[in-house]
Amino acid sequence: MTEIREMAAADLFDVAIIGGGVVGCAVARRFTLEGARTVLLERAPDILAGASKGNSALLHTGFDAPTGSLELACVRDGYAEYREICGRLGLSVLETGAAVVAWTDAEVAKLEGIVAQAHANGVDEVRAIDADELLAREPALSPAAKAAVLVPGEHVIDPWSTPLAYIRQAVENGAVLLRNAGVTAAGFDGAHWRLATTAGEVRAAAVVNCAGLWGDRVATLLLGQSAYAIHPRKGQFVVFDKAAAGLLRTTILPVPTERTKGVVVARTIYGNVLVGPTAEEQDDRERATTDSETLHQLIGQAGRIVPGLADMPVTAVYAGLRPATERKEYRIASDPDRRVIDVGGIRSTGLTAALGIARHVHGLYQAFGTAHRPIADPVWPVVPNLAEHRPRDWEAEGSGEIVCHCELVTGREIAAALTGPVPAGDWGGLKRRTRAGMGRCQGFYCTARLARLTEGRLAEPLAVGPAHHGP
Ligand SMILES: Cc1cc2nc3c(=O)[nH]c(=O)nc-3n(C[C@H](O)[C@H](O)[C@H](O)COP(=O)(O)OP(=O)(O)OC[C@H]3O[C@@H](n4cnc5c(N)ncnc54)[C@H](O)[C@@H]3O)c2cc1C
Repeated sequence: MTEIREMAAADLFDVAIIGGGVVGCAVARRFTLEGARTVLLERAPDILAGASKGNSALLHTGFDAPTGSLELACVRDGYAEYREICGRLGLSVLETGAAVVAWTDAEVAKLEGIVAQAHANGVDEVRAIDADELLAREPALSPAAKAAVLVPGEHVIDPWSTPLAYIRQAVENGAVLLRNAGVTAAGFDGAHWRLATTAGEVRAAAVVNCAGLWGDRVATLLLGQSAYAIHPRKGQFVVFDKAAAGLLRTTILPVPTERTKGVVVARTIYGNVLVGPTAEEQDDRERATTDSETLHQLIGQAGRIVPGLADMPVTAVYAGLRPATERKEYRIASDPDRRVIDVGGIRSTGLTAALGIARHVHGLYQAFGTAHRPIADPVWPVVPNLAEHRPRDWEAEGSGEIVCHCELVTGREIAAALTGPVPAGDWGGLKRRTRAGMGRCQGFYCTARLARLTEGRLAEPLAVGPAHHGP
């Protein structure tokens, strides 16, 4: 890390990206592939320290996004590029489709409008289905369902391997990733930015603010003010045991309200079923706590939608924070005079839209007048597979010791996650790269072994005892 920091301080980058959430990782990938000397600055010991560490993991089609919006364009572009590149990066899609289910007559009345909006958004395969077709497709669903809109392209992806693949492709093609590098001050001399970070000074000809939950604070550092204020909106989730995955195929969505897309019941790529998220305003940008009353409500709601879930053991609970602002739309703005692009308020579709946002941001950057030569033959790293429906490492020849028996994580996977171009920087990062400690026992049995295997490798030593919760 020291070597990299010294190089960063001495170098002048074409672009510095602030924030290693899914959006920053995708932007770093795009700029690198387009030939820009790129540095990504992340204040935490690892990527995904903000909104991107806890979401529903749905790959959205954009069927319900505001027609004509920038969000819709980025979701559509992000979806298309994800499908195009995921195989080459080792990423998966769990092809579930989704159904927007109406439980009341008032909701049935809204379905026609949902289909019309989907078609207006170019998602032509969306169609209304009656209760018979819905229940034939999903026999475990409550028979109280009245009708639905089927969205065949709405799928499930791996929320953590995806940004990891993006930043790995950036780094393996020449980008610099600086972690523990929080930006604390910034100055522009008319041509170049000097960014004071907790890892030393970094100079760049342009800056992209992808600081997510801290986006307004970083915008103020750069520009003296922010066009928006972040109001974190918490979403709590319950993750059911893997036995639940046999109960449903399709993601079950509610008919949305003005305020929220509502609570979803969906399979995860890791072989579980989740229910959530809630939508709760809070001031705290760091902590996303869960509370038992809300979790019990979610479990009750899941049981009303899929009655078999009522008796299903719960494996984990978690909460994520959306970087919401006072408006619903993305707050992306360019300041060509000061060579800053502010990517704010990527609230609830950023996992899907990240690749599309990255292309949009690069388009804005081109107006700054700096041309680069795209990399002709980029490296395509392949990230380890964590998806339950594809072969895992423990099934492969010579996989050796299994360290986490709940999630069947091998010692070889742990070793790989601690080395390589973007090694895990902390315990959360190791969990997100391997799923160790995220299964039924939540790390009760494997933490001691993991503490030995990770000695001296993580920002803080692993405390022996049950691990934190996670999806
Ligand atoms: C409950 C919930 C459910 C969701 N479901 C879905 C879904 O199903 N599908 C979907 O597509 N999207 C979903 N999303 C949305 C998606 O997760 C977000 O849009 C996305 O994570 C936003 O990413 P970001 O990179 O903009 O911000 P963040 O993830 O917050 O990243 C910002 C990064 O910047 C770093 N940072 C902050 N300040 C500084 C600084 N001064 N210097 C250096 N680094 C700094 C932070 O540490 C952080 O790592 C959901 C979100 C939530 C919360």
